[in-house]
Formats: sequence, C-alpha cells, structure tokens
Amino acid sequence: MADLAPSPTLAVTAEADRLRRAGIDVVDLGAGEPDFPTPTHVKTAAKDAITRNFTRYTANAGILELKQAVCDRTRLDYGVEYAPNEVIVTAGGKQALYNASLALLGPGDEVITHAPAWPTIPEQIKLAGATTVLVRTHAEDGFAIHAESIVGAISPRTRAIVINSPCNPTGALISEADMARVADAAAERGIWVVVDLCYERLIYDPAPHNLPKVLGDSMRDRTVLCGSASKAYAMTGWRIGWAMGPADLINACSTLQGHATSNVNSITQKAAIAALSGPQEAVTRMLDEYRERRDRLCTWLSVEPRLRFVKPAGAFYLFLDVSDFLSVDGLRTSAEFARDLLARKQVALTAGEAFDAPGFIRISYAAAPHKLKEGARRLLEFVHEL
Ligand code: PMP
Repeated sequence: MADLAPSPTLAVTAEADRLRRAGIDVVDLGAGEPDFPTPTHVKTAAKDAITRNFTRYTANAGILELKQAVCDRTRLDYGVEYAPNEVIVTAGGKQALYNASLALLGPGDEVITHAPAWPTIPEQIKLAGATTVLVRTHAEDGFAIHAESIVGAISPRTRAIVINSPCNPTGALISEADMARVADAAAERGIWVVVDLCYERLIYDPAPHNLPKVLGDSMRDRTVLCGSASKAYAMTGWRIGWAMGPADLINACSTLQGHATSNVNSITQKAAIAALSGPQEAVTRMLDEYRERRDRLCTWLSVEPRLRFVKPAGAFYLFLDVSDFLSVDGLRTSAEFARDLLARKQVALTAGEAFDAPGFIRISYAAAPHKLKEGARRLLEFVHEL
C-alpha cells in the first residue's frame, strides 16, 4: 500500500468540493466527466428496471442481453465480430482494465505504455505486481504515439502493451498505421495489447481510428478492448464499462470479478442496453458541444503565447505547457502552479505531475461554457499577475 499513489484526479475533485461547501465560488475544470445529464431514454430504462423489480444479482459477467448489445455496437461501429462469451460487463472502464491487469500480469512482467498517462494505468500494473515501462510522447509532435518508440521498449520480459487512444490527458490519437506496427511486433512475440477506448466516441475531426479492426486483423487472440459508457453517454456515476477479448481471458476476468465485486448493478445494466442499442443522437450532440468548447477555449487561451498547447483530437482535455511561468524563485513546479491557481483564483485543474508530465496542467472542458469562460479568464489573469 505504501507504494500506491492515491488517484490525483479524484483528489482535485475532492478539494474543489471542500472549497465549494465552504461557500467559495470555485470553477472546477478538474473533473474528467461530462456535465450533461444522462440521455432521457437511458434513465427511463433504469426506472423501468426498478419498476419491474429487476433488482437482483445477475450473471456475474453481465446479462446476456447487454453483452449482446456490446457485441452489436462493436459490429456496427467497427465491423468487428465478438460473441457474448468474449465480453465481460464491468464497473466502468476502470474495472475492465483492472481485471485485465490482474488476469494477465504478475511479478517480473513488464508492461509498456505511453506518458503523459492516465495515472490509473501504471498503478493497476503495479497492483498486479508488474513493472511499467513508460514511453514518452512529446508536445512538439502533438503527443503522437509512435510505434517505433513502443516497439523499441520491448524486452524479453514484456507481457503487455497498453494503449490509451484518445489519450487522457493529451487528447492524442494513435494512428491506425502505428497501431498496426505495434500489433505486428506484439503478435510476433506473443505480447498482449490492451486498448483503453473509453474516449473512443469523442473524436472531433474525421480520423481513421478503427483500432479493434486493426488489432483484430493481426492479433485478435491477444487483444483486450476496454470500453465504457461513462464519457460517451454521460454515465460516469452509473459505473458501467466492458472488456472484450478471447473467451479464456474473459473467463479469468469473470472469476476475479466474481470474488471482488460480482455483477455490475442490475439497474445500470438495463440502462446500458438502452444507451448502446438506442438512438445515438445524444452522443453526437455532446460531441458537437465539446468541439465547440474546445475551439473556444483554444481561442481564448491563444492570446497568451506562453501558454502552449496542442489542439486535442479527442477526449475533453486541454493539456497546457506552463513551463514558461515556472522558475527557481517563483512557482517552481506545475503542482505549485495548480495549487496557487486554486488558492488565489479558485480555479481547480489537475497538475501535469499527476500524469507523469511535470510542467503541464490539464483543463477539462467538459464543463458548462460560462464556467469554462470564467476559468479561462481567471487563468489568464493569474498568469499575467505572475
Ligand atoms: N480510461 C481513461 C483514460 C480515463 O480517463 C477514465 C476515467 N477518467 C477511465 C478509463 C475510466 O472511466 P470509467 O471507469 O468511468 O469508465
């Protein structure tokens, strides 16, 4: 336990909550969650589930109807076939990734992933007793995830590669060509590839990003796809996601889950069927709105050239390089920058240290436009006073 770091993103939310309860007007751009309500038809399905007393334990790996809905969505979106026995329904993408980590990894194993990284990925690897090998991506080339760097980090101990695309916190996508090169190298050496697709439905401009197909073509038997309803359907609090992979691995995940948490909440499962199988317009509407917010935020902040950023291709975060404002006799780190910004201007956001990227801060633009505008105004005021 001493080796484990608490989730820094959840810590920011907790601190912002504490200030708000104390009556302080906090602009919270820390939380990585949609500010939209869950779509109405999804809520209705949940209410129906309660009314019909669908309130008991379900099959541990999820009800068949939902696993089928995940398979159908996957076929529609990617043209890739999965069967229900290759799906496990989990409490969010987080548990999908965690199950996969525990099922696949052990002491002595190395896992390659890319940084800046969502902090849960390396911590889950650590929880499984394995070691993370971080490959850097760089702001100078848009935080691109290059196959050569991933492949170059492979050693005889490499057991898995974890790719998060769209990436939290950078918003970068791995290209299909890079994914294919990683897949070829992994397939040759019997290495697993785990893909975190939690932001998959939040890609702003047309970009070929059919990772399930690319991986399915060359190494389906060692691919794990982790998905979630949290971001796409504004369902963070419902706690629902899924993992897809070879039946043996999914069985192992199910055994683990059977002893850890059992099935995902029965009502949530019914809601997720409505989300995945029902009309998808709400997803598109939210995507359009996030795009608009991203563009506006980029315009507002571009008046200060020392706040450097790459326009994100996906997810809903802007990852800002604030190193021009750091110095030995002023704010020394981006953690100090974020702490002072909260104390002096009451804007909560996450320091890059949380993502293994000191010198950066992450702004979540999944916030109401007036809050985003006010947050940007206070941030600019803050840097001008430095
Ligand atoms: N992957 C990434 C990259 C994330 O940012 C998150 C949530 N912050 C998740 C997975 C998991 O989300 P959930 O468990 O709500 O599906």
